[in-house]
Amino acid sequence: MPGGTDQTLAPFLWRAEQLYPETEVVSRTHEGVVRYDYDEYGDRTAQLAGALDDAGYGEGDRIGTFCWNHHRHFETYFGVPGMGAQLHTINPLLPDKHVQYIVENAEDRTLFVDRSFLPKLEGAYADDPSSFESVERYVVMGESVPDTDLEAVAYESFIDGHPTEYDWPDNDADQPAGMCYTSGTTGRPKGVEYTQSMLWSHTMALQQPQGIPLDDDDVVMPVVPMFHVNAWGLPFSATAGAAKHVYPGPQPEPADLARLIEEEGVTVTAGVPTVWLGLMEYVKDNDVDLSALDRLVVGGSAAPEAMIRFFDDRDVELLHAWGMTETSPVGAAAHVKRDLRDADYETRLEKRSKQGLITPGLAFRVVDDDGGEVPWNGEDFGELWVKGPWVTTEYFGRPDANQAEFEDGYLKTGDVVSVDEDGYLKIVDRAKDVIKSGGEWISSQELENELMAHEDVSEAAVVGVPHDRWQERPLALVVPVEGADTGALESSLRDHVLESYPKWWVPDTVVFIDEVPKTATGKFNKQALREEYGDESLVEGRVPDDAAPGS
Ligand code: AMP
Repeated sequence: MPGGTDQTLAPFLWRAEQLYPETEVVSRTHEGVVRYDYDEYGDRTAQLAGALDDAGYGEGDRIGTFCWNHHRHFETYFGVPGMGAQLHTINPLLPDKHVQYIVENAEDRTLFVDRSFLPKLEGAYADDPSSFESVERYVVMGESVPDTDLEAVAYESFIDGHPTEYDWPDNDADQPAGMCYTSGTTGRPKGVEYTQSMLWSHTMALQQPQGIPLDDDDVVMPVVPMFHVNAWGLPFSATAGAAKHVYPGPQPEPADLARLIEEEGVTVTAGVPTVWLGLMEYVKDNDVDLSALDRLVVGGSAAPEAMIRFFDDRDVELLHAWGMTETSPVGAAAHVKRDLRDADYETRLEKRSKQGLITPGLAFRVVDDDGGEVPWNGEDFGELWVKGPWVTTEYFGRPDANQAEFEDGYLKTGDVVSVDEDGYLKIVDRAKDVIKSGGEWISSQELENELMAHEDVSEAAVVGVPHDRWQERPLALVVPVEGADTGALESSLRDHVLESYPKWWVPDTVVFIDEVPKTATGKFNKQALREEYGDESLVEGRVPDDAAPGS
């Protein structure tokens, strides 16, 4: 048996292959739907491990991926850490300068890339080839390589000819197995490393009843991207539970999700609220059979109450969960406690709308401004601190961030929460000034700096305002220089931001003001700005469809 006796990922795959060789893995790809079983998955994962080994990689090497959710990406999930190297998933929706920083900082030796993300990667490379110096090879996910300037090989050629058996090493529990960068407030993303034992313990935590347990009769479709925090760990836990996997592939539309749910009999799926808002609209307008679907996990941003009701009405249990890159990611889930199961619907709904009960295995504190712990009364609030086996204790190569964001062994999450008498956590604010749009982060500080670099701008502040579809969108408050033509400035600012950032970073609305209000210490008073301008109607209907993350 592979994997020795330590807490590593290897035994999950080994068990699934031995006990459930015929269980399916289904994947929507650029080349159509691919369908195989754990037996073949194991063979191809061994081939990938052999190919990486022959290429000279092993412990201490980081292998990057720049991909959607599909079977080949899933092969890297067990193949890369299994052979001893480290799987570094990179978010292709990030601005080029973040991608460049991340690849350079992680010193990735190989990048696996989807053909649809190839132009994005080529652009980031052409703009600053030096940040890609560590990358020795690009592997394009597919049968062939499209026309590209990058030194690239097709995935199928890369693994072809390698044996379907691999002599898996006995990895160490403390060995880095995964990595993911989280968005910083200042534009320098911070790397989080996942050891073998962090991934093992997170998998086991998901598999217990108060996590997101998956069984051998489940059909699991992670819509949450595999390029961010391992798709919430579901590819690992679905394998541990020997469930059928369904990967929705490149840029899935609500119609694709609905079809996969119907045709593959998906029982559990997971993603950010924006995804489910899209599906809800589609379900309202089309005849969709959701009868197979038991559970829908929502996290990354708050699940609106109306969403919980919508799925309740269709007999689908919506489980609201909380987590972050630093917590691998799942840290809480809004399960209904035994004593509350007989409570009336509205009471249960109120609990389920909260971010939930801490996951067994983790400890937390809620700390107020004076450093004291807040009482569990659902009213008082403070910053949520967490610690536990799958919570990171440091950032990769960032002693500055380590000093600021960890204390007494706890991670300071930056989420401001209250805890009610029953122990349910509720996020009431975010200490960090970042905007979450459609599940992806926008740094308000970076946007402000970019806007203030425009010659007609004297000061600029950016705040997140609530939005029906994207949860939050950026609104810019701009003080123009004297004599500036504000009529032309809004579109000029849009073009200016677009020079360095993707479309979905462009503020939806620019409001010209005379002065940015300041706090006593001279900082922009974001609180005052949010109170004055945080009005949904300002941005409602003004976000172009192609401003979506991923477009
Ligand atoms: P990330 O590290 O990109 O996965 O983002 C983690 C952050 O997303 C958390 O610190 C929260 O601010 C936010 N978040 C995650 N889950 C939820 C949720 N269920 N409700 C509200 N915010 C959430």
